[in-house]
Amino acid sequence: MDPRLESGHLRREWRTMQVMVGIYCRGHEHPQATGAGLCADCQGFLDYAERRLEKCPYGPEKPTCAKCPIHCYKPQPRELARNIMRYAGPRMVLRHPWLTLTHFMDKARRVEHPMVTRRNQRPPF
Ligand SMILES: [Zn+2]
Repeated sequence: MDPRLESGHLRREWRTMQVMVGIYCRGHEHPQATGAGLCADCQGFLDYAERRLEKCPYGPEKPTCAKCPIHCYKPQPRELARNIMRYAGPRMVLRHPWLTLTHFMDKARRVEHPMVTRRNQRPPF
């Protein structure tokens, strides 16, 4: 695993993602095809999500993906991500209250698009 996923908000986002996909997969009674207890499709999505997180230009300052001004997911996994969030979000509150709370605190933070940040950091002369 990318060491960047081991710290801060990225780690939490990643952890949240794993939990949500797990709830979604089990909730839909998908065939349990992998050692992690996910079906092959959901595991594939998680792998995809991990690669996107690794490449996230925000790094540790990342907002939650729902709030991110960059939409780095392709349309298909993006649609799946939306379904997973919609299904697992309310269910996660009961099982992982702390993770949910911190996730929503992350959600409340606002970030600028990297281009805007770069523009603002440019010296004024
Ligand atoms: Zn599944």
